[in-house]
Amino acid sequence: MKDFHYQSLPMRVSFGAGRLASLPDEVRALGLKRVLVLATPFQKELAEQVSEQLGGLSAGVHAEAEMHVPIESAHKAREVAKAAGADGYVAVGGGSTTGLGKAIALEFGMPIIAVPTTYAGSEMTPVWGLTANGEKKTGRDPKVLPTSVIYDPELTLTLPVGMSVTSGFNAIAHAVEGLYAPDGSPITALMAEEGARALVDALPRVVADPADKDARADALYGAWLCGATLGATTMSLHHKLCHTLGGTFNLPHAETHTVVLPYALAYNQEHAPQALAALRRATGAENPAAYLRELSLKLGAPGSLRELGLEEADIEKAVAIATKNPYANPREVTEEGIRDLLTKALNGADLDGAGPGRPA
Ligand code: NAD
Repeated sequence: MKDFHYQSLPMRVSFGAGRLASLPDEVRALGLKRVLVLATPFQKELAEQVSEQLGGLSAGVHAEAEMHVPIESAHKAREVAKAAGADGYVAVGGGSTTGLGKAIALEFGMPIIAVPTTYAGSEMTPVWGLTANGEKKTGRDPKVLPTSVIYDPELTLTLPVGMSVTSGFNAIAHAVEGLYAPDGSPITALMAEEGARALVDALPRVVADPADKDARADALYGAWLCGATLGATTMSLHHKLCHTLGGTFNLPHAETHTVVLPYALAYNQEHAPQALAALRRATGAENPAAYLRELSLKLGAPGSLRELGLEEADIEKAVAIATKNPYANPREVTEEGIRDLLTKALNGADLDGAGPGRPA
């Protein structure tokens, strides 16, 4: 047993089909009087239903969350909240909506209740992201952590199958990197292994029948554990690469995670024996990297970074950014190694030897 340090994060989690109905009680339990409901324009209708359900506890709907959280959007939401006399926020949606809630919490310190509708896991982390003057910045601050999170799998029934798969792989990536994080602990290892297992098991069932409530609940349960792992550990190579590809080349978030994860894991897994053993248990496969690649393709996910818009000419810039600053990773991060990894991901190269694994 290696020494460890574990800081549990202060937050209340409520999970269950139909659990959205407990939102008014949650608002009251936090001592809030009027909360502004945040959403993307696409989920405005859902936000309006939530607002209606809150009755007099609602200060209205602000359905203007967008990707990459421009700082102006946090300021605008704050103005809307002030004008409506709001004392807190409910963020209903995926990572972009939770991200807006976090940006507001960072700037103005107001409590957030998160109601996640994807598997991204942002609601479990003190990690914020903001875009100011065209530059995306991220950081960690406990004050951006939602005060409460309500997980209602029924809200994920509308998540399109393609997004369910890539969002699920985004979550698995949190577990994978948590398993070899320098600040991992016995608790994060348990959460990560179980989170990955639950998602690997649930995603094929979601694809087979997107209306399968048990599969949706199992996937969201896995996403919770993976998000909680991310919230308690430091990210390594995989997340750094995806951040570079998203931030510099504007590649889509969850799809990029899905394509890169098998290659990043293939790069690292032989150098992280405990993580490899945990992922072998979670996937049932001898070679978890190859297994994740096969699974993602079987479930219809994009297979290469080229499909997502990256070009050969972008590789050198990505290598330079990803190797500029040192960070913890089980295997040394070299220019040559990252060039090879990214070239494979660009072309969707085969990763042999998955072994049987869990049936998809
Ligand atoms: P998203 O929040 O951008 O959602 C994508 C689209 O899907 C939006 O239009 C949204 O309204 C819609 N959508 C969400 N749930 C739906 C549902 N159940 N049914 C139908 N449509 C639905 O996507 P995401 O992948 O959840 O989040 C990505 C963002 O989150 C990125 O900006 C990423 O950087 C951030 N993120 C942050 C953290 C963190 O810890 N800070 C972790 C993971 C992701």
